Amino acid sequence: MDTQDPVAAPSPLTADDLRAALRAALGPRGLLETAEDVAPYVHEHRGLFVGTCIAVARPAATAEVAEVVRLCGAAGVPVVPHGGNTGLVGGGVPRGGVVISTERLCRIRGVDVANRTITVEAGAILADVQAAAEAAGALFPLSLAAEGSCRIGGNIATNAGGINVLRYGNTRELVLGLEVVLPDGRVWDGLRGLRKNNTGYDLKHLFIGAEGTLGIITAAVLKLFARPRSSETALVAVTDVDGAVALFQRLNDAVGDALSAFELIPRIGLDFCFAHIPGCADPMAEAHPWYVLLRLTSPRRHDPLGDALEAALAEAFEAGAITDAVVAQSETQALDLWRLRESISDAQRQEGGSVKNDVSLPLSQVPAFIARASAAVEVAMPGIRVCAFGHIGDGNIHFNLSQPVAMQRAAFMADWQRLERIVSDIAAELDGSFSAEHGIGELKRTSLLRYKEDVEIELMQRLKRALDPEAIMNPGKILTF
Ligand SMILES: Cc1cc2nc3c(=O)[nH]c(=O)nc-3n(C[C@H](O)[C@H](O)[C@H](O)COP(=O)(O)OP(=O)(O)OC[C@H]3O[C@@H](n4cnc5c(N)ncnc54)[C@H](O)[C@@H]3O)c2cc1C
Repeated sequence: MDTQDPVAAPSPLTADDLRAALRAALGPRGLLETAEDVAPYVHEHRGLFVGTCIAVARPAATAEVAEVVRLCGAAGVPVVPHGGNTGLVGGGVPRGGVVISTERLCRIRGVDVANRTITVEAGAILADVQAAAEAAGALFPLSLAAEGSCRIGGNIATNAGGINVLRYGNTRELVLGLEVVLPDGRVWDGLRGLRKNNTGYDLKHLFIGAEGTLGIITAAVLKLFARPRSSETALVAVTDVDGAVALFQRLNDAVGDALSAFELIPRIGLDFCFAHIPGCADPMAEAHPWYVLLRLTSPRRHDPLGDALEAALAEAFEAGAITDAVVAQSETQALDLWRLRESISDAQRQEGGSVKNDVSLPLSQVPAFIARASAAVEVAMPGIRVCAFGHIGDGNIHFNLSQPVAMQRAAFMADWQRLERIVSDIAAELDGSFSAEHGIGELKRTSLLRYKEDVEIELMQRLKRALDPEAIMNPGKILTF
């Protein structure tokens, strides 16, 4: 990966002056300066990107974030917001400048039970937000495998998806209000808990999914939902991806909104788990080419979800649409099934190099996409191993490619762009997107230019210039200036 620094380094004097001013503003716990201390903030967690920075600021209050941004702006030094560093596109990797970590800005400010909202600071870990909602008798439904370390500000900045999008939407749909430090150091207090507010441009949407390029999110008002009191989890074997799509339609008709997660798993994904993740075992007697892991939930305590599920599966079985199914009989069994799904990325990593494609398509086009893209990459690189899995209910497929067994990892990874291009071109031809939920960061800037219309790029550039004319807010991410 490119480790060039596109941001002009400030003079040593400026950097020293700035560090002294930041030290004075933030106190002894507020600034990290040694190479050892800043190392975790300049390395992307997979090691694909390594950057540099002058220092890491750790403000503990919104006013401190604003002060850091003001000081950096005055020195002409860029700032790079940092959450849990679990992003997958290099968006939080600094290319010079000052990293602003939200890790000390992590309070749950309050729960409004009647309004069904929770107000949290940007550095709150997603699992802590979920736990705070649960303690208040409610559900905050955003859920992803990185939830123990990603932070809500990062989730909002990347408009994260995860396994519950089908029922509750992306992060964008879960945010009612935001507090944001703007590139000039002013604070926009948009912390409103309103479900209706048609008062001109809805500015919060500019910052959601902007990957820290327009401002630093410091707090948010989030929607809460009724907690599920009944749930059913099943792993269902299907002969092909068309069968998975047909099962989705059948279940959607049968149980509607109760279908809260619907994930595609290929046999190779399970084989990777059995080989590398201790305690993972095949819940079925025979191997099948494709599986769907699904969950139904209801806020009613004794909702007969199980009956509806069994009936829909029996019909699908009779119609020849599914070949086997395991319905979890206990919470432990359900967790074991979900562990298989959540372990695929980890297990795949242990198979050597992995080129990740995070595409989305209209659900009707997913079978054609997987067939065409698999054939194309197999022609491009004989022996490549396609592991296509993920949130098929949302039309979102992680079309991940494992290196051929005998190939060197470095040689495979060097071919990332060619393979990504093949996959993204096919997604585009089928009216899909080259980046469904992971964003653009540095990794997909070239793709953005290739697949977005000129008019869209121009509008994005104008927005960026209007909000951040000095280009100090996470420069070089999403857009190339
Ligand atoms: C195992 C694993 C599973 C994952 N599963 C999913 C998944 O199912 N769905 C999904 O969408 N993603 C997934 N991801 C990707 C990642 O977890 C998400 O993108 C997450 O939302 C990033 O949050 P973070 O706090 O780690 O952000 P970071 O990685 O720290 O930052 C991500 C971007 O947001 C910016 N940013 C961070 N905080 C702020 C802030 N307060 N204000 C403004 N900008 C900010 C950064 O500058 C950067 O550009 C997964 C990652 C891993 C490692």
